[in-house]
Amino acid sequence: MTLDTAPPRHEVAASAAEGPLGNAHSQLRSAVATLGLDDGIHRMLAQPRREITVQVPLRRDDGSVEVLTGHRVQHNFARGPAKGGIRYSPAVTLDEVRALAMWMTWKCSLVDVPYGGAKGGITIDPRHYSRDELERVTRRYTTEILPIIGPERDIPAPDIGTDEQTMAWMMDTYSVSVGHTAPGVVTGKPVSVGGSLGRSSATSQGVVHIALAALAHLGIARAGATAAVQGFGKVGAGAALILAEAGVEVLAVSDQYGAVHHPDGLDVRALDQHVAATGSVVGFSGAESFPPEQLLGLDVDLLVPAAVEGVRNEHNAGPVQAKVIVEGANGPTTGAADEILSANGVLVVPDILANAGGVIVSYFEWVQGNQSYWWTEGEVNHRLEQRMLMAWNDLLETQCRTRLTLREAATVTAVEKVAHAHQVRGIYP
Ligand code: NAD
Repeated sequence: MTLDTAPPRHEVAASAAEGPLGNAHSQLRSAVATLGLDDGIHRMLAQPRREITVQVPLRRDDGSVEVLTGHRVQHNFARGPAKGGIRYSPAVTLDEVRALAMWMTWKCSLVDVPYGGAKGGITIDPRHYSRDELERVTRRYTTEILPIIGPERDIPAPDIGTDEQTMAWMMDTYSVSVGHTAPGVVTGKPVSVGGSLGRSSATSQGVVHIALAALAHLGIARAGATAAVQGFGKVGAGAALILAEAGVEVLAVSDQYGAVHHPDGLDVRALDQHVAATGSVVGFSGAESFPPEQLLGLDVDLLVPAAVEGVRNEHNAGPVQAKVIVEGANGPTTGAADEILSANGVLVVPDILANAGGVIVSYFEWVQGNQSYWWTEGEVNHRLEQRMLMAWNDLLETQCRTRLTLREAATVTAVEKVAHAHQVRGIYP
């Protein structure tokens, strides 16, 4: 085979990759085909601009030494600095981080925040480490990726297994290393060190703005509408609480340990307190427990997956009874499941819109930090709602015009903007 006839490198990568990265590549391929982009642009969009894998040696509390593996992938800078969360999970792999970084690029483009996409992670189960150990891991990982992050280069934020304390340690480590306080290096940090009011609930608020808009679009009244939420962490618990406040009956929620159900709607606030005290939804006295794998098939109006990737696949997409799925998690639906859901008339609001509230308020945090000027929580929430609903209305309009699914329409819109940024910037030299 000559070089001329060899398949492009990204196609090799796409065919070899399974799971989230295969899913991300196939979404991109389809958007590229719809837009009629050439192969050169496709290659630029398919491959991360920069990625780093680091060893993170950790001295454990008992004096032993463990070596963990971390990654940071910067998928694209065409529209601005890279932006994306840091995940601490035993399931973290380089391919997963690559997929999540690509989705961040499309998300930022879709909701018009001036960033490219990035993602990072460490293969670690944070539940098995003390707070001191997690601080040491975080500081060493930050030091290892320090040459490629910064307020104008790449700005991390929390994701699965990390939180505002993690961001405070990252910000402090970076600041000490560069010799001045640099709050803009991370977002999702505590308000006391330059975090934004409204950031901690932003992703969940955004999910609910979109969920309520989607229910209204289908003619379903929010009062008395029913919902199930998979994942009861930062995104899922927040979404369940806000949905319940909005009058939606949250019938069931699950986490990695189990699932609970109440036919008249869970007392989500009491459940949240139970989780704060015990670490899981399991054992909540105000509900019945049931097998978590049944949650995705419950007879509800609204389903919010807010846990991990690939949970909705070709094996469990067929029996879905929900009218609308609003993706709080990144990449919860595989390509095969998307086709089944679309054929069955289930409205799927894609992750790159549905969970964009987090990056929108991260952007607000960065803007406020750069100006050293702070907005009230009301201002933040109002601007967030405006941005989410604007993006939702634009997406509906595009979908109506193109007859694509919402995910296809969202990906095409996002990819087109990034491709255009590449085209007008040109290739240097
Ligand atoms: P988190 O660590 O706070 O919570 C994750 C939750 O999912 C936990 O309740 C965990 O028990 C549960 N879980 C894990 N595996 C599960 C499984 N197989 N079945 C059911 N539950 C399971 O993480 P988070 O920040 O809430 O993130 C959740 C999702 O939302 C991820 O896909 C993340 O990338 C995405 N996301 C998060 C943000 C953010 O601001 N935190 C923003 C955008 C997207």
